[in-house]
Amino acid sequence: GSYTRRAERTVDTVCPFCGVGCALTLHVRNGRIDRVDGAPGPANDGRLCVKGRFGMDYVHHPQRLTQPLIRRADAPKDPAILMHGPGGRADHAALLAQFRPATWEEALDVAAAGLARVRDAARAAGLRGRAVPVAGFGSAKGSNEEAYLFQKLMRSAFATHNVDHCTRLCHASSVAALMESIGSGAVSNPVRDCAHADVIVVIGANPVQNHPVAATWIKNAVRRGARLVLADPRRTELARYAWRYLGFTPGSDVALLNALLHVIVTEGLVNEPFVAVRVHPDDLRALREYLRPWSPEAMAPLCGIDPATLREVARAYAGGPASMIFWGMGVAQHSHGTDNVRALIALALLTGQIGRPGTGLHPLRGQNNVQGASDAGLIPMVLPDYRRVGVAAHRAAAEAAWGLAPGTLPDEPGLTVVEILDAAYEGRIRAMLIQGENPAMSDPDAAHARAALARLEHLVVADIFLTETAALADVVLPAAAWPEKTGTVTNTDRLVQLGRPAVAPPGQARADAWILEQLAQRFGLGWDYGIDPHGGAPEPDSGIGRVFDEMRSLMPALAGLSWARMLREGAVTHPVPAPDDPGHPIVFTDRFPTPDGRARLVPARPGAPAEPPDADYPYVLITGRQLEHWHTGAMTRRSAVLDALEPVPHVSVHPALLARLGLQAGQPVRLRTRRGQVTVATRVDEAVPDGVVFWPFAYAEAAANLLTIAALDPVAKIAEVKYCAVAVEALAPD
Ligand code: SF4
Repeated sequence: GSYTRRAERTVDTVCPFCGVGCALTLHVRNGRIDRVDGAPGPANDGRLCVKGRFGMDYVHHPQRLTQPLIRRADAPKDPAILMHGPGGRADHAALLAQFRPATWEEALDVAAAGLARVRDAARAAGLRGRAVPVAGFGSAKGSNEEAYLFQKLMRSAFATHNVDHCTRLCHASSVAALMESIGSGAVSNPVRDCAHADVIVVIGANPVQNHPVAATWIKNAVRRGARLVLADPRRTELARYAWRYLGFTPGSDVALLNALLHVIVTEGLVNEPFVAVRVHPDDLRALREYLRPWSPEAMAPLCGIDPATLREVARAYAGGPASMIFWGMGVAQHSHGTDNVRALIALALLTGQIGRPGTGLHPLRGQNNVQGASDAGLIPMVLPDYRRVGVAAHRAAAEAAWGLAPGTLPDEPGLTVVEILDAAYEGRIRAMLIQGENPAMSDPDAAHARAALARLEHLVVADIFLTETAALADVVLPAAAWPEKTGTVTNTDRLVQLGRPAVAPPGQARADAWILEQLAQRFGLGWDYGIDPHGGAPEPDSGIGRVFDEMRSLMPALAGLSWARMLREGAVTHPVPAPDDPGHPIVFTDRFPTPDGRARLVPARPGAPAEPPDADYPYVLITGRQLEHWHTGAMTRRSAVLDALEPVPHVSVHPALLARLGLQAGQPVRLRTRRGQVTVATRVDEAVPDGVVFWPFAYAEAAANLLTIAALDPVAKIAEVKYCAVAVEALAPD
């Protein structure tokens, strides 16, 4: 950065919120981030949404953790503490009072000793692999280097793949289906490629709220003449730009998409030359056969869209000439999420709408670094760069790079997020390390998740605030926030960008990578990157640089992207196989990364929602995000402007349902499911269908996930937080 006349410094970095990955300029005065401007990055070209522009003051919030904490002997873990306090929001002072301050030395020793104690007892009992009762949740909000170190620490110190992160709760089903079909979980084309699309399909995503700058590129494309198809049970704002809006019945995704596929295979819309060279030879015949009964006429009663519209949309998509699909959590977060994505992939493959500008498949990634954390191996099934743990050569390469004895790494995948918390509840997982994730808020059936966390013998949490999860920990380690450290993140477009520190961590807060190195040393792993505890600077000779270069040595996708190049260029799209390779915003242009280069067509089987409405619980609860708040609210609810814009939780209710309940907008209702009940104010919203209510999960005082169901997709183990049965009741007058 450079000093200006007003003693203001500027630092160019990346937004810490969503997966769009907007470049921004932080203006720093007197050690504080004073103002934020959009910078001309590849993803945003200077544009920012309200979170990027006004949400950065969470960094300076007085509740930042500034010293290590150890649970007091007289403070038993009790999830009920999260439900008390003014307005139902936990009382921060009461949460803090459970702990005593400690030195870093003591806190790290206690943190490591507790994990080692559980590990050693398990080893003595002969437990191996996923049966090791230790697990870790890393973070999609940290850097690539932190994600890499986190999975390396868990795998090296505990010889288990019980390591996962919130990708399990967002795009696990997308990644599972994409890997199975085209051999890669990554997006094929960047968001801004919609500038070259003639038809844009957005399904189960609300980018105006959740990927706001991405939505502006889609709106620009519509203004230029692209035809937008929006498929979503909620008539969200993008519907105003849509050529066709498909307000389909919640949970009927497979019926809707198979009807489109049926039209394509029966009306001669298959791109035969493309399929002949790019798809496995047997698959088209089998899929054609499978799709025979799925006509628009047969599916219309199930999905609620008339046959003529289904035919029109299928023809438009197939005809393009260039057609692009975006999808989000509305597709992925279902107990049949993998099948939903299989159908989307088949649409692109049958019509050849992939591998060219303005085409392709784009699962919109949620968090700023969920792509990068997944690339780095923060997943129980794969090592860095999606190398499966079951392949001996992949394990051997990691063992050699990490200085582990041959055979250390187990050959079976570890447990996933929801499985880990279930195991914790049942006592099969007894110790955990959690860095920058908040499962007490983000996981389905939160009362169960909280009870599971409280039952752990030993829980170590590293975070910037005393989150609902940290409040149940034995040891809390104060971490540095994103604008306080150097590191790289990878956005939804596979764009790897450099984050630079603007301010110093408060008090004794330390960079997560340093915390991981310190823990590794206590496990005798011999790490000596020399990571700067204070976040470091973007310099060639640095601990983070050494981590980056080690990471890319295990990742063919980053082989040509050295730390020195990263510092020089600041933003490069992977794969970057060679040093002189410019990077590849569009992939799968002539082959897919499968053994024979061809893709597979996999039939999408229908799956009913795990918990349909019934007489006792007659409505459907959909949970999700909103523009002003980020996920569990740990950051944005501590941002003055964002919290002022949306200070209290509201459930969105159709006016007809509100009228039946005899309520005015704003009056409270009781939402009750088989898992729990919460009282929350209503907001009238014609975008939700009558019979469906929508509720953001950012609010600790009325946590939406207390009500959601932990039913899992059998393939991807993602939870169905987009659908459960709920009762909506007016409160009896006092
Ligand atoms: Fe940040 Fe996403 Fe908003 Fe861009 S669109 S400013 S990355 S939250």
